[in-house]
Amino acid sequence: MSITEILGKQSKPLLTALGFVLVLLIGVIDYLTDPLFSSLMLYLVPIILATRFVGRSAGILIAVSSALTWVLADMISGPAYPHIIIPIWNLAEKLGMFFIVVYILLRISKAEEESRRLERERKDMLSMFAHDMKNPLIVAGGFLSRLISGKAGPFTEKQMEYLKLMKDELGRLERYIKDFLELSRLESSEYKPVPAPFNMSAALKMRIEMERIEAEKKDINIEFRIPEDTAIMVNADAIQIDRVIANLLNNAIKYTGSSGTIIVNLIERDKDVLVQVVDTGIGIMEKHIPHIFDTFYRASRDAGGSGLGLSIARSIVEANGGKIWAESILGKGSTFSFTLPRYYA
Ligand code: ADP
Repeated sequence: MSITEILGKQSKPLLTALGFVLVLLIGVIDYLTDPLFSSLMLYLVPIILATRFVGRSAGILIAVSSALTWVLADMISGPAYPHIIIPIWNLAEKLGMFFIVVYILLRISKAEEESRRLERERKDMLSMFAHDMKNPLIVAGGFLSRLISGKAGPFTEKQMEYLKLMKDELGRLERYIKDFLELSRLESSEYKPVPAPFNMSAALKMRIEMERIEAEKKDINIEFRIPEDTAIMVNADAIQIDRVIANLLNNAIKYTGSSGTIIVNLIERDKDVLVQVVDTGIGIMEKHIPHIFDTFYRASRDAGGSGLGLSIARSIVEANGGKIWAESILGKGSTFSFTLPRYYA
């Protein structure tokens, strides 16, 4: 992250305070060092900063006005008035520095604010576009289903095969768009989680039963392990968390070969509750692991997917006060873990 980005994220009072501290620091340097060094600090530094962050004309303006004030101060502070003029000059000099530093820092924060606004607008436009694409896709999918069901007349076997391929591809596009829209909603501040106590054991059991149907198609067994069959309560948004469990289980099924095993562990710890989805699937190369939660990142190209599922999962878990991570050995399997705050009755 560049210094401009770091400064741009700070609040205005903090930037002002920072400017103030900088001026004090320069004052101390001025007091402790020889005149040449302090002149460099008091004139050259602001000129360089202004030129770098504001523009060439600002640098020239400060340089010219510094030189003029210097000359003026020298002229006025003749031998008759040294004791009055010098403190006034020093005060003016430091006040000037203060305003210059603050002005530069505020300009930086404004530029950062502007770039954040543009980024928000870009994301809003993309989600509006995705939203408008969703309806025609659903309608086209509906007509294709009718054609496939034979309601519009018979098709040859080859035609039918192509229609089914089209339907699959449309379905994939629809899933991309839905995932993209969900991620945009999660990233926007309007979609805040609504935390409430709920029984994590029951939520996991229910979701596992739903996903079992898909797993059985690949002869994959899903095992649920909890220490005792008691209710383990968490404080989180139940609907959002169900989405996370579904994503992790879908991935485990998608990336595990036939006759594999998926184990779901639920562990109650001191401060939080830990959920693990362990599979005996294809695993992930070590170099991909730090990136798999990034938007659109995909470590494998074979199975169909959008690369958004894990980003959605991470946004949800973090918004609900938890953490999510992955461990994996290529060719042996993966473990996806997440935590959530425990509920204390
Ligand atoms: P996708 O839609 O591609 O599955 P995800 O965001 O859910 O997108 O996952 C990102 C990438 O992480 C996937 O493309 C895949 O390479 C890897 N991945 C996720 N879960 C697993 C898993 N259980 N086993 C192996 N690789 C996985």
